[in-house]
Amino acid sequence: MAYCTSSQHLQALVDALARPAPPGSRGAIAAKQTRRIVEQGWATSAAIEDLLLLMDRRLDPYGAGSVDVLSALFDLPWRSVAYRPSRLAIDVVLHQAMAASDVAQLLIHLEACGFAVDPAPMVDALMPGLRQRQMLDASELSILWFERWRHKATPMAIRADNRAVPAELRKRGTTPSGYRIETWHCIDGNLVELRIRAPRYRRRKPPVETKCSVCGWTWFRGDPESSQIHRREHKARMRYIDPQPHPRVLSALERGEAPSWVTSTSPPWKHREMYDRALAFKREFGYSFVQWGSELGDDDPNVQGFLFLDARAAIIGACAFRLRGDAPSQWWGLQWIWLSPKHRRNGHLGRQWERFKARFGRFEVESPLSEAMAGFLAKQGDSRLAGELFAAQAASTLPHDVPRFTEG
Ligand SMILES: [Zn+2]
Repeated sequence: MAYCTSSQHLQALVDALARPAPPGSRGAIAAKQTRRIVEQGWATSAAIEDLLLLMDRRLDPYGAGSVDVLSALFDLPWRSVAYRPSRLAIDVVLHQAMAASDVAQLLIHLEACGFAVDPAPMVDALMPGLRQRQMLDASELSILWFERWRHKATPMAIRADNRAVPAELRKRGTTPSGYRIETWHCIDGNLVELRIRAPRYRRRKPPVETKCSVCGWTWFRGDPESSQIHRREHKARMRYIDPQPHPRVLSALERGEAPSWVTSTSPPWKHREMYDRALAFKREFGYSFVQWGSELGDDDPNVQGFLFLDARAAIIGACAFRLRGDAPSQWWGLQWIWLSPKHRRNGHLGRQWERFKARFGRFEVESPLSEAMAGFLAKQGDSRLAGELFAAQAASTLPHDVPRFTEG
């Protein structure tokens, strides 16, 4: 993290850090000042000056601890605020103040610079107000993550705003709290950069973009949140990548029903199964939209979904037929088909093919065709059903008595 300040202020920071750290004997008064700022929600420049001096006397308001300069350095905004007006008031006096969360951020930064500043009491006092919040600004995030990153944050550099290039390391030291400090000078000998490294900082390997060979999810190895999202997604995708016997299918079979067909009036669980496979088809072939209404249903009255089942009653894939064209020239189209990779080339589609032809008549296998699908049609002697060929013959040769279905 790099920040920028004036040459004078940079020198003041370096000089202050070079002096012995003050004994922390004024904690009780600092705690009182902290409480006051948290209760008000805001702090004036004078209140912040007092707090900094109470915590570390080296942060004097005319040198290293100049609050205006520090707020510019760390990009912490001033706002116009007023004391609550009385019922009779017709005007208010506005004061410049900093939000309490930004004051906490300032303390976090100053501790990370190696000053004897303790942000913990203010962080603790502000934390309850952040717990339920869905959106946070940068200062609030720092508060939320304070414990996690305290004394471990990425190294900080404060540079002089004259843009001179650091050329020579002149001084190296360690503060009593363990922060390692380096001062860098430019070729003309002027101080141009202060570098600070936290005592418990460890260089972490950058997260590596990784694609899961099983579920196809792309995530970042080394990033805990990304790993967690992958684990969740992996589990969800395994439902259809490695399908297990489906309780609803089992009970439908026990009742003597044929649970494979899905229409707009089918129960929601069937739509979820159809949608999952339509989504897998979209992902695998890179289409831009999912060709099934939603997890809750598909309102096309002429859709005919089909769930492929194996002998264990697991749903190993799905396909969807839709009625195409305008009456009287209509036909059925096989819109998409997706089988779980481990169940491909096991004859599942072949076993249903004659059934599909018997049900839909001469149906179109819609473009674009995968290589595997084109190969399958050739093997069946049905290449004429492939999208473009089919369209070329369609107008003159299509039967007009296209089958319709009211039930799945
Ligand atoms: Zn995975």
